[in-house]
Amino acid sequence: MSTPITTRLTDLYRIGPGPSSSHTVGPMRAARMFREACEAHGLRPARVRVELKGSLSATGHGHGTDRAVLAGLLGWHPDTCDVDALLDIDAHLDGAWVPLAREDVVFLPYRAYRDEVLPHPNTMECRALDEDGETIFEQTWCSVGGGFVRLADSDEEEDLGGPLPPPPYPYTTGEELVTAAVAAEMRIGDLVLANEEAWAGGAAEAAAGLDRVWEAMRACIRRGLAQHGSLPGGLGMQRRAAELHARSDAADFDAGYAHIARAQAYAFAVNEENAAGGLVVTAPTNGAAGIVPAVLVEVAERLELDRRAVHRALATAGAFGILIKTHASLSGAEVGCQGEVGSATAMAAAALCEILGGSPGHVENAAEIAMEHNLGLTCDPLKGLVQAPCIERNAMGVAKAWSAAQLALHAGGQGLISFDRVIQVMKRTGDDMRREYKETGEGGLAVAVNVPEC
Ligand code: SF4
Repeated sequence: MSTPITTRLTDLYRIGPGPSSSHTVGPMRAARMFREACEAHGLRPARVRVELKGSLSATGHGHGTDRAVLAGLLGWHPDTCDVDALLDIDAHLDGAWVPLAREDVVFLPYRAYRDEVLPHPNTMECRALDEDGETIFEQTWCSVGGGFVRLADSDEEEDLGGPLPPPPYPYTTGEELVTAAVAAEMRIGDLVLANEEAWAGGAAEAAAGLDRVWEAMRACIRRGLAQHGSLPGGLGMQRRAAELHARSDAADFDAGYAHIARAQAYAFAVNEENAAGGLVVTAPTNGAAGIVPAVLVEVAERLELDRRAVHRALATAGAFGILIKTHASLSGAEVGCQGEVGSATAMAAAALCEILGGSPGHVENAAEIAMEHNLGLTCDPLKGLVQAPCIERNAMGVAKAWSAAQLALHAGGQGLISFDRVIQVMKRTGDDMRREYKETGEGGLAVAVNVPEC
């Protein structure tokens, strides 16, 4: 076995503001760490300049990346920041650590760096300048998806609390995860929870972290269902979660479809909140944040799951998200939407399959089926906003997760293609995908649909 996976569930499931984990949460974290690095070097720059390149430049306007960078430079954390204050960031720049203004965050036009090989499709260069505008310190950061960030010259993701010890149940691949669960006669979720408990310092500590994630997911659904009106950004999209939810409860609604429809309303609620800049949980990204909570909250309510069962479901889903993060990518800018909505669908399918009684083999097969039928999915948000096709695509992910769980449960627990193989294919497909289809706003629906300018 190669190095065991040591990514924690609470690092995968990050609580933070919308609309994007790679374009909002990641840049905010990177900018804060750049400030901390300046302070650690005893520097007090006259100004700071942050250049956004690649997808951060192409769709960062619609994703509010400039606001997020300024917030990070102010020292704000994604999981504790006031989302209303973030939307009104200019009002908070007075008296900052260094003089800050919107112009300090530059969306560099593609022509300015097109001959450059970027270390990642989401790259930001941060410079501290002296009085004469000379660079006195610089760092290049990559926002690699799901809110994770690393320095360009490092393979290590930053801000994860240091190296973790080997877990009690080590695994590196999906196959090893299934083998370990079968050998230990455990469900995948229990095995992953045992690892999390070891890293958290005890069962109570791990449970508290997952309670926080679960409450943030439920609160997001509640807020989203209570909102009406249009979403910001100029597309004119109306919020639909409340109406879809009411419809799924109507007496004349097709009873066989009602629970999927209710979960789809929950997905709309989360993704509409995300589009409006509200607080969401990266599951595994912000753009795809609706699928896992929608499926799990609906099923937890209907089957009255207890606290342990909810934690187990989060753990099972999380294990498959972490496998994808480790061996492929969660970044729409790197592999297209198959890495976001595809990953979230696989996570939800795995957790649902286990809740419905699936063996470790069934669970792995559910995740594989869900990912297989998202292969090739491009990232082409209209106007660079995480709204169309993103919100509806999450609702479709809910239905696909349900189908994948059911197909796996009735297929004997072994598919022709393994989960490990399908995520290799996903990565290769993403590598082959043209740049236009990877969160640049230059291809697919983003240019095929006539969008009114605001
Ligand atoms: S199309 Fe998919 S990957 Fe792209 S922003 Fe929307 S949800 Fe994210």
